[in-house]
Amino acid sequence: MTFLFRRIENWRRNRILKRETISDAIWLKILKQLKSLQGLTKEETTRLRQFVILFLHDKTIFGAHDLEITEEMSVTIAVQACILILELDVAHYDGWEEIIVYPGKFILDYDYADEFGVVHHAHKIASGEAWLAGPVILSWQDAAGVDAKYGDNVVIHEFAHKLDMRHQGANGFPILHANMSTQVWHDIFSKAYAGFCARVNRGQKTTIDPYASKSPAEFFAVFSEVFFEAPLVVKHDFPKIYEQLVLFYRQNPAERLGRVSA
Ligand SMILES: [Zn+2]
Repeated sequence: MTFLFRRIENWRRNRILKRETISDAIWLKILKQLKSLQGLTKEETTRLRQFVILFLHDKTIFGAHDLEITEEMSVTIAVQACILILELDVAHYDGWEEIIVYPGKFILDYDYADEFGVVHHAHKIASGEAWLAGPVILSWQDAAGVDAKYGDNVVIHEFAHKLDMRHQGANGFPILHANMSTQVWHDIFSKAYAGFCARVNRGQKTTIDPYASKSPAEFFAVFSEVFFEAPLVVKHDFPKIYEQLVLFYRQNPAERLGRVSA
């Protein structure tokens, strides 16, 4: 980003932050409720709130099937999207605008071409979906965390796909920072993915949702969910992946948990 562009962008953001706000009651309620937000410092919480305001300014959230989107719903979705980029920037979600929210799980019915150009038909029940340069689709029931299994978070999952997609589509290989090594990332993730798939194929139990074995993209998205929701599981069972995710997200959620229990 050039110096001039950054100045204009900062000016734009300050103007939005002066005009737009989130009601205190809703903010505090959500902050208390969501597991992935526990242990944030005051400074982090302030920045998160600013990111949520900017995010909600830039994105449009639609309710499908006559679902009415309240402020509480918008903020619940936005805050979970923004926890991923708390140490990155809201600009990581540039290039697309819409979030579509269904009351519950929804049916996806579409044709798509695979890497060999072969067209397939998909028909599945989903709780979330992220389209390349297109919308994020969510089930409100799942986004609100109702009945979520330990470590699951559909909003974090879909927005991790969005971060991944910034680099050659969804392939589990997002744009890494200058202090990271693409070779190290590739080696650690490929090895862990192969080991994980082997376990799933043998029918062995896994501490992380076996859905992660579906593809490297799903592996990254599912591990991102657990990294924020149940960080000790990743840290304990996949320490090298944990290290890479700490470098990528520039956050250490396991350390934050320590702050909560201290
Ligand atoms: Zn996914």
